[in-house]
Amino acid sequence: MRWSFHICTIAGTEVRIHATFLLLLAFVGWQALGQGAGVPGMLEAMALVCAMFSCVLLHEFGHVTAARRYGIRTPDITLLPIGGVARLERMPRHPIHELVVAICGPLVNVVIAIVIGTFVGWPKSFTPEVMLSDSLGFWQVLTNWNLLMVAFNLIPAFPMDGGRVLRALLAMIVSDYAKATRWAATIGQTIAVLVVMNMVLSSRFQPMLVLIAFFVFFAAGQEASVVEEEEAAGNMQVGDAMLTEFHTLPSNAVLREAVELLLAGTQHDFPVLDEDGTMMGVLTRRRLIPALADHGPGYPAQLIIEPCAESVEPRMSLVQAMAKLKASPCPAIPVIDPITEKMVGLLTAENVGEALLVRSALRQRMKAMSAS
Ligand SMILES: [Zn+2]
Repeated sequence: MRWSFHICTIAGTEVRIHATFLLLLAFVGWQALGQGAGVPGMLEAMALVCAMFSCVLLHEFGHVTAARRYGIRTPDITLLPIGGVARLERMPRHPIHELVVAICGPLVNVVIAIVIGTFVGWPKSFTPEVMLSDSLGFWQVLTNWNLLMVAFNLIPAFPMDGGRVLRALLAMIVSDYAKATRWAATIGQTIAVLVVMNMVLSSRFQPMLVLIAFFVFFAAGQEASVVEEEEAAGNMQVGDAMLTEFHTLPSNAVLREAVELLLAGTQHDFPVLDEDGTMMGVLTRRRLIPALADHGPGYPAQLIIEPCAESVEPRMSLVQAMAKLKASPCPAIPVIDPITEKMVGLLTAENVGEALLVRSALRQRMKAMSAS
C-alpha cells in the first residue's frame, strides 16, 4: 500500500503503518492539548490510541495465525486509521477453514476484553452513551474498544468478518461457493440499505453510519464480482489467457525504444531481458512517462524497471495465477516454460479480463444453443 511505512516483521508477516495513522495520532494529541489536558494528558491520549491499535493488530494476527494453520501465508498487515488490513495470500475456500480464519480475529478481542474487564470491571450497561462516555479511564476505554470491535466485526456483511462467517455458513448449506457469496453479498447490501432507510425515516442522521453503510454496500458488490470472475476462470490455465505476441526490450535499451513500442501497439508494459533471455524486470508505462519528462528519451531503460520476482507456468490454473498477479506489485508477470526455462508469454490483468469476457460469451452461446 502506498504511503505506508515498515514497522517490524513478526513471524514472516510485515507490519506496516499508513501515514494517515500518524496524522490521527497527531490530531488526538493536539485535541487533548486544546482541551487543557497538558502534556501528560496529551501523552495519555496518544498512548490510548496506540493501545487501541495494538488490539487491532492482535485481531489481525488472530486471522493470520489461523490462516497459517491452513498453509496460507500473509505477506503484510497495514494499520490504517479505520483499522487493520491483513493481506492474505488467498482466501480459504473450504467453508470450515474460512469460518475459523474469520472468527479468530474477533475471538482475540473477546479474550483481551475478558482479561482487562476482569481486572478493571465491566461497563455498567452496553448502551452507546455508557460505552462511549467521556469520563472513562484508560483501561475501561480499552475494554469497551475491544467489545465494540467484536460487535462491529460480527455485522454479517462484507468486508467485515461477519460477512465471511455468513458466507462460510451459507456455503456449508448450499455447497456452492459463488452462490453463497452472492447470497451473503445481497444480505450485507440489504442491511446497509435498511440502516440508511431507518435513519431517513427516524430523521436521526449519523454521518459515520452512512459512510459505513456505503462502504459495506460497495465492498459486498466487489466481493461478489471477484468470486464470479474466479468462477468464470474455472478450469482455465495460464496458457489460455496469456499474451503470446508481445515485445521485449534488451538490457541496453533506452526510453526512446520503449516509447516507439508503446505508440506502435497496445502493449503498456515491456519485459526487459538480459543477454541470456532472462527477465530482469518490467518497464511499465506508469514509470516510463514520468521518467521521459525527468530524464529524456536517451535514458537507460534498465534504471527504471520494476523488479518482478514472481513468474507463472503455462499449465498453472488461472485462478491461482490471478491471485499471484493481484498480490504482485508488477502489472505483468512473465510466463516461463518449466522445461526450456524461456519466457513464452506475459500475463496481464487486461489480457486475463479479455480472456474471461471471451469465455463468458462462449458459455452464453453454448447455453443458448442447448436451450434451442
Ligand atoms: Zn477481522
